[in-house]
Amino acid sequence: MIMKYAVKQVLLILLCSTAALTLRAQATFRIFDKPIIFDAERKQLSLEYLEKRHGLKQNEPTIKPVMVVLHWTAIPSIEVTFDVFNKSKLPGARKEIATASALNVSSQFLVDRDGTVFRLLPDTVFARHVIGLNYCAIGVENIGSEKNPLTPAQLVANEQLIRYLKRKYPIEYVIGHYEYTLFKHTPLWKETDPAYSTHKTDPGIDFMKRLREQIKDLNIKGAPGHN
Ligand SMILES: [Zn+2]
Repeated sequence: MIMKYAVKQVLLILLCSTAALTLRAQATFRIFDKPIIFDAERKQLSLEYLEKRHGLKQNEPTIKPVMVVLHWTAIPSIEVTFDVFNKSKLPGARKEIATASALNVSSQFLVDRDGTVFRLLPDTVFARHVIGLNYCAIGVENIGSEKNPLTPAQLVANEQLIRYLKRKYPIEYVIGHYEYTLFKHTPLWKETDPAYSTHKTDPGIDFMKRLREQIKDLNIKGAPGHN
């Protein structure tokens, strides 16, 4: 009798721990809202960017997303990145892009090293993060750099975020920032100055390779010629 009870107990414990593991593996995907300032100045600068750079005259600084562009911040923490993005105007140090517009850079999403996802702006509010494509691209910044490649937790978070966005919007493309110039000479490219370009390496070729493996089933396209 006692033996039987003990066996039952062990079985119960085993069942419970298996259930707990399964639950952990399927933890609910969460986004934490941590809004940056989007004041009248930022709105005005965004509308000007849309018109001058993308050639789009709009009344509201919104986008119609068909693409997700993944980045790394090259800034080591969420706090510092948030402070950098939280200003409407570019700081003086960004001279190479300041002549194109005074609008500060930002992104709709920011992912920490542990995979925590923060939403800095509503999904469809304009953010300056990729030349030629801001008007149709949601930006996802990841805390990391060349020296601090993105983590496995960030890989999972980016995958989940892309799945979430794909359910909400007609997302056709997911690209790494380093691939953005491949869209020049495609109908999606909207930049009035053909000479306005920067060289990018984020978020790393390896990360994009691994990410594409994870989202294969979504049939999302990569950059032209780099599928
Ligand atoms: Zn970038």
